[in-house]
Amino acid sequence: MSKLLPDIDDLTRPFWDAAQQRRLVMQRCDDCGAYVWHPQRWCRGCYGQALSWQPLSGAGEVFSYSVVHYAPLPGYAEDVPYVLATVRLKEGPQMMTNVVGVDWRAVFIGQPVKVCWEARAGDFLVPQFTGI
Ligand SMILES: [Zn+2]
Repeated sequence: MSKLLPDIDDLTRPFWDAAQQRRLVMQRCDDCGAYVWHPQRWCRGCYGQALSWQPLSGAGEVFSYSVVHYAPLPGYAEDVPYVLATVRLKEGPQMMTNVVGVDWRAVFIGQPVKVCWEARAGDFLVPQFTGI
């Protein structure tokens, strides 16, 4: 069993295309400057529809987290316990993600992290975060 892969559509394709190049990107509103996550067709701040994909630094910190002890699907059995986290990116927006490559007992709120890339199903890259 393998881990889940995203259902990619026209809205999310730019994010996943960038991810395959190990680039983290996010929509940003051309009108008010707000970052928009998850991908949307309009800005949640001003309802503007002019959104552009912008590169992110990939740096952030753990805003909140929990430790998953029971695999939600068989493909995750080898990972438990693992850290499900909300990471606040340096640019401000938050992403739900996993913190990997560090002992789950050592994760803490405010921990500096950076994006890293997990290959699923052979070579499909999914962004994750790891300690720095
Ligand atoms: Zn806006």
